[in-house]
Amino acid sequence: MTTAVPTHTENPVTQRKGYVYIIGAGPGDPELLTLKGERVLREADVILYDDLVSSELIERFHALKIYTGKRKDSHHFEQDEINEEIVRHALQGKKVARLKGGDPFVFGRGGEEIEVLRNNGIGYEIIPGITAAHGASAYTEIPLTMRKISSSVAFCTGHPINKIQVPDADTLVYYMVASSVHDVLDAVEKKGWKEDTKVAIVQNATRYNQKIFTGTLGELRKREKAVYSPALLILGANINQFIENNWYSKKKKVLITGDNEMMFNSEEYISVPFPCHRVDGADREKVNQCFQNIGDYSVLLFPNRFAVNYFFRYFHEYGKDVRYLGNNKIYTSSPAACAELLKYGVIADLHLEAECSSDILSILQEKGIKNENILLPCSNIKDDYLVNGLMSLHNMVTPLSVYYQGAQEQGETIDLDFIDEIYFSSPICVRNFKSFYPSIPDKIKVTTPDQNTEGEYRKLFMEKA
Ligand code: SAH
Repeated sequence: MTTAVPTHTENPVTQRKGYVYIIGAGPGDPELLTLKGERVLREADVILYDDLVSSELIERFHALKIYTGKRKDSHHFEQDEINEEIVRHALQGKKVARLKGGDPFVFGRGGEEIEVLRNNGIGYEIIPGITAAHGASAYTEIPLTMRKISSSVAFCTGHPINKIQVPDADTLVYYMVASSVHDVLDAVEKKGWKEDTKVAIVQNATRYNQKIFTGTLGELRKREKAVYSPALLILGANINQFIENNWYSKKKKVLITGDNEMMFNSEEYISVPFPCHRVDGADREKVNQCFQNIGDYSVLLFPNRFAVNYFFRYFHEYGKDVRYLGNNKIYTSSPAACAELLKYGVIADLHLEAECSSDILSILQEKGIKNENILLPCSNIKDDYLVNGLMSLHNMVTPLSVYYQGAQEQGETIDLDFIDEIYFSSPICVRNFKSFYPSIPDKIKVTTPDQNTEGEYRKLFMEKA
């Protein structure tokens, strides 16, 4: 069925029709997005994204974001409604990014969405993504084809059960199997595959919580084991001995809390960001007031890139640009904040190589910076340690909340079973984390940048209540 949406132009300025990009986000690891996809997401006015797209990826882009998945706490979008939403935004002349997990044309309903766009005369293009089978293959060391062992591979679906097919191929990959593993295995067995065929179930491929179950067709048919979505079932002789001890499983998974950009991604580590939700939420009256008197502040100190980003969003919204900042010295304390400033055409006067608030204070003290009137754009959670420290160095300080740092989105909690290490970047992060997790399992190593943060961690997690 196709949806023809009435053509009505809501924005009189843009009479032209918008343009839609249907983009594959890849299977989970946000770095598996294509360069083209990234560019378009940066330029998009609105992003409509699905369940399997990680919030870590989405957070990087400024566009209006509309979740079209089926999480319990949100409005449940049916496909027709999603189609209407895409068309509605496009008809307002917007650049619309339709972001889907994996590849849009592999069990992705991309075909249905372009049909609607065609019917409404809206221009579009498709940007492929890495499909789950390819992500799982690479991150578990299962080559999908292998000389002399497997010369063909088929992508199949385990849903609905009455449509399960068993094509004639050496390697079979089944999508959508969380509730139908046994039905798929039965169908494969019925088709004549041997009991000793190797089978792997890969849950959350390419994510920090990737999990693998292996066995033979005979063994797995007998085993009652819960499989959680998203999961793939792979069958074939190419499932080798490396699978359990693959390169990805050897990496330490480090949970990074805070706005700090420390990335541990290396040969040894994978960083997992603590999904702290950042949203617009400034006290607009105060923001406006500060902007009116922006020339009064001798220093603007940006502690992280979010502060920069939200500050300039409001600044532009109130009709101001960098020309109004000619009298302010601009300081930053993280390389990411520096890079973010450059996006707005600003080169920081002073970049403090600081990992935490106490570093900022000692560098300012070393440089003899005092008697300044400092505006500190930050989140709703004020860093009292920094504010008090700046004051005791004889400065005036005005913290200005330009964004709201709140609860993580429902359904996106981090499963600590998969985490090897937690890095708390400030005492605020420890408190924030504590509000979600009452305790930290013993096997997890905890690291902090300074005594203050260490103290807060000990107080909240080590001392008996
Ligand atoms: N267009 C997507 C597939 C969407 S259908 C793609 O190309 O990957 C949804 C199914 O994809 C899930 O039920 C699961 O079988 C599979 N899938 C998606 N992401 C996955 C992941 N990270 N790990 C394992 N399976 C995944």
